[in-house]
Amino acid sequence: MSFGKVVTLAGERETEIKEIEHKPDIEDDAVFTEVVQTNVCGSEVHFWKGEFPVPNGAVLGHEAVLRVDELGDNVTTDSAGNRVEEGDLVTPVYFQPCGECAGCSNGQFYACEVVKSTGEWMQPHSIPPHFRGTFATHYYINPDQRFYKVPDGVPNHVAAGANCALSQVIFGLDRANLTQGETVLVQGAGGLGLNAIAVAKETGAEVVVVEGAPGRIERAKEFGADHVVDMKEYEDSGERIRRVQEVTGGDGADVGIEVAGIPAAFKEGVSMLRNGARYVEMGNIATELTTEFSPADLTVKRINVKSLLFYQPWYLEKALDFLERNADDYPYDDLLDAKFPLEDAQEALEGSANQEFTRASLIPE
Ligand SMILES: [Zn+2]
Ligand SMILES: [Zn+2]
Repeated sequence: MSFGKVVTLAGERETEIKEIEHKPDIEDDAVFTEVVQTNVCGSEVHFWKGEFPVPNGAVLGHEAVLRVDELGDNVTTDSAGNRVEEGDLVTPVYFQPCGECAGCSNGQFYACEVVKSTGEWMQPHSIPPHFRGTFATHYYINPDQRFYKVPDGVPNHVAAGANCALSQVIFGLDRANLTQGETVLVQGAGGLGLNAIAVAKETGAEVVVVEGAPGRIERAKEFGADHVVDMKEYEDSGERIRRVQEVTGGDGADVGIEVAGIPAAFKEGVSMLRNGARYVEMGNIATELTTEFSPADLTVKRINVKSLLFYQPWYLEKALDFLERNADDYPYDDLLDAKFPLEDAQEALEGSANQEFTRASLIPE
């Protein structure tokens, strides 16, 4: 009988279930947990397809709700100072800034050189403490890795996604200083986009979404988008720009957030903003994808661009607070439409890649 299991990446589009023989030693400042539920994020699908370099044998998974199994001797609270005990549900900041690079030394932990896009958190399962991905029966929260208690009343599958899209979107819109009464352009209504709509609505902003996929358009409306510009109806970029200007009173949006992940969306987004607007670039993360763009498009309109990946680690606490207050008001339940046992991770990844469902989750037994 082995102690536990992990789902590892074994090559392009290949996974392997590996048995871990023994429970790892728990350091005094670490927390050992059981995985209750873990979501298949879009980035997991990228890793699985081989689109980002990942060490062979790395454990997949980063979005999860965990149950505390054993607290290290020094751990009495979560990272917000809430008392934590064995059996409590928690969720981790899945990446761990190094604290020493140029970004970290300046307090910009989201810009950590070590974390980057593929993640230092993905290490081969053979290296102790083995359980460093959430597609597994257990997960080891490192010393200094932040984690937070899941508030009562937030369903596991909703809380499981808080440490990724929602935290990042709240951080992004904060950096753009989005305020009540402003108009926000959201380009793309995938996971990031829908969360952006919810956060913008709760800030009291008016939301304009640009999207082309029928299912996503429906969801954007359900999440409260005030206007949706359907890319099938407005096929040409110029038409879409005019439409956005029209619904924003002629000038364009005060804030834009690019979460479509398409290079051309950047140029188009800038054209949909008013002079002096703020623009958050978040969706494009593949450096080999390019687009023709004149920097003067920014200067002429004095656009203030914020770009980001990841988030300041304490934003996970804000994301969980957001869900505690608002999860019931948005159709988060509809987003997770497929559940698999851990053993069927391969099937869950395949289905996610083929867009057979919006978002799958794995439930270890
Ligand atoms: Zn994710
Ligand atoms: Zn760093």
